[in-house]
Amino acid sequence: MLVVMKAHASEDQVRAVCQKIESLGYRAHAMPGAERTAIGITGNKGVVEPGTLDEMPGVQELIAVSKPYKLVSRDIKLENTVIRFPGTDATIGGKALAIMAGPCSIESHEQAFAVAERVAQAGAQFFRGGAYKPRTSPYSFQGLGEEGLRIMAEVRDQFGMRIITEAIDHESMDLVEKYADIIQIGARNMQNYSLLKRAGRAKIPVMVKRGMSATLEEFLMAAEYVMSEGNYQVLLCERGIRTFTDHTRNTVDLSVVPAVQRLSHLPIIVDPSQGTGKRNKVTPLSRASIAVGADGLIIEVHHQPDKALSDGMQSLFPDQFDELMTQIRQIAPVVGRTVEPTGTHFPIATMGSARNENHPASMR
Ligand code: PEP
Ligand code: MN
Repeated sequence: MLVVMKAHASEDQVRAVCQKIESLGYRAHAMPGAERTAIGITGNKGVVEPGTLDEMPGVQELIAVSKPYKLVSRDIKLENTVIRFPGTDATIGGKALAIMAGPCSIESHEQAFAVAERVAQAGAQFFRGGAYKPRTSPYSFQGLGEEGLRIMAEVRDQFGMRIITEAIDHESMDLVEKYADIIQIGARNMQNYSLLKRAGRAKIPVMVKRGMSATLEEFLMAAEYVMSEGNYQVLLCERGIRTFTDHTRNTVDLSVVPAVQRLSHLPIIVDPSQGTGKRNKVTPLSRASIAVGADGLIIEVHHQPDKALSDGMQSLFPDQFDELMTQIRQIAPVVGRTVEPTGTHFPIATMGSARNENHPASMR
């Protein structure tokens, strides 16, 4: 059920409707839009008993939502969600493309800084890197853990890029929330519902990667889990699905980008690195991702891919990332997008640990 407020409904009226919904035993999610605010109702076991909701001041109408996903849907919010990072010009879902780049895993201070310097210079606004790695083999490198997160925080201080890193379980989520700017939920965890709910209680944005065999609906429902807990700063990431194709690691399903954008207001970016598994296919698929309308890219880059502890085969050399950015800058205007510099307004160091509480990324 969706309560659509009148265009000029006051904040008090919206608040009163939310209180009424909560008093009926449901959860209210107010989503302000450019034209009007809609309030999603969740937490109902069956049909919502609307009581006298439609007679409350400021209420325009009540709409039954038949789709399984509600908060991710354009029914509740017509305009695209734009995730902002106060202290920088970086956004995700706006006109400017969000470019995330960095190594698959954080391996050492020296490695992270060598890569970070190059991707920042090339124009990435976000630095990626895994401190906790979900590896197919228990004998493969599992990540540096908190030490890796500390290195990433130093990268943020030094280069002004916001940092994105994966939480693989509840334990790592506590630490990732403490250090990072965006929590990554990996493909293998897209249907780990308790982890998605935990991410929904985090105060920072969450990127949900598509599971290797997830349908569009399952993908959107994973984001719905996060939003249902009250975290509306969610972005999606297509990272390739498993098909019978054997010339690439996965098949990048670019058609999911317009499919998501039709149904949902959430931003969606593409990961051609996990998507193809092959360095020589990353740049072509990046070009195609931007052309198809993705809101950004997440790219693996390593200064010495041959020595990488994970995913060296799909990691670009820094020079190749430079070239990729040059090409993206040419394609972006054709699809009405821009590529902005890192754009930090003031020294990040001054933001300190108040980042989460006082500078939450905001949603338009
Ligand atoms: C990664 O980003 O390195 C990664 C492990 O991604 P995915 O969850 O898409 O496999
Ligand atoms: Mn990887």
